[in-house]
Amino acid sequence: MAVFKPENVEDFYEIGEVLGSGHFGQVRQVRERTSGTCWAGKFLKIRKIACSRLGLDRGSVEREVEVLQTVQHPNIVALKDVFESRAEVVLILELVSGGELFDFIAAKEDLLESEAIEFMTQILEGLGFMHSRNIAHFDLKPENIMLSDKVSPHPNIKLIDFGLAHRFHQGEEYRSTSGTPQYIAPEVINSEPLSTAADMWSIGVITYILLSGLSPFQGETDEETLRNIIAMNYEFHARYFSMTSSMAKDFIQKLLVKNPIDRMTAEECLLHPWIKPITRKQVAKRNRSSINMKNFKKFNARRKWKMSFNMVLMCNRLVQLKVLCKGSSDPDPLQRQCESDVEDTESKPASLLRRRLSSSS
Ligand code: ATP
Repeated sequence: MAVFKPENVEDFYEIGEVLGSGHFGQVRQVRERTSGTCWAGKFLKIRKIACSRLGLDRGSVEREVEVLQTVQHPNIVALKDVFESRAEVVLILELVSGGELFDFIAAKEDLLESEAIEFMTQILEGLGFMHSRNIAHFDLKPENIMLSDKVSPHPNIKLIDFGLAHRFHQGEEYRSTSGTPQYIAPEVINSEPLSTAADMWSIGVITYILLSGLSPFQGETDEETLRNIIAMNYEFHARYFSMTSSMAKDFIQKLLVKNPIDRMTAEECLLHPWIKPITRKQVAKRNRSSINMKNFKKFNARRKWKMSFNMVLMCNRLVQLKVLCKGSSDPDPLQRQCESDVEDTESKPASLLRRRLSSSS
């Protein structure tokens, strides 16, 4: 069990700029006072009362911490320390300063499949390590695949955000409908028992997008996206996949499989000829094929725009609701009510909404 230090985080770290925001708080750069080393501090608001929907319950933070302690791997963000105050838990994480993988790729002129595969391999290695310890991420999406640094020509992949991750115990049946519509597996939508195979579906979706700049199940609305996933309604449009190798399509097809048992595992993916070619012909095919950069850039620009739009929307709602809350004789309960409304304003499955702020659907 992790030690949540009761000391004030600011006695040990100088708090710096905001690196990112999530549903339950901010991630800020922090500087260790003794060594001067920079880290990322993830500030998570903790629920004050059990029935409130504002903030996280301490149990779920404990689970995120426990998972992070278990998955020490070069392709997974490392946890250094945990601090706790009355209203907040602060996770001190390795600083991942290379930005999102998708932004790094979108800044390039072109990219061969063989270059994209170098990143896919690292993602699969990190994921395979987690899965070998019976831990599933359950929120794999471009926003959670980052790069170690900006200076190296070959930065390392770092998987982040283990807020939805789950460690399976033997014989346990685990169900959850949390996730981000575009990337979730059919069994998540159907509230069926889950396994690490749900992550492999997300890898299929991410690979499809990476190669074509299209999102395989994307509908006009989240509901339509979810319906498309259930119906397995996807294809390889010739217009967008003209530069893609048949091995890459085979790789995706073996991941976007409805029955989780029949999906490739991370370990099997690492042995697939697209990732690990055996013959010279296979190597040559990968070097001849490239990603659809023109469309990928468009996809990424739309994704970033939607993320900023959602963030502005969320902030505006908070401001409006805070105005409404003013003047109450009992500000605390009303404040909770207001802010929990912010989380659940739309008629979607509540847990799917948990991640909507960073959703790019
Ligand atoms: P969400 O509600 O979107 O799931 P969250 O509250 O769980 O978010 P994270 O996804 O872990 O928070 O972090 C939010 C953002 O902060 C990330 O998208 C990323 O931009 C940034 N971030 C997170 N961890 C790090 C890190 N270790 N180093 C640098 N930036 C980070």
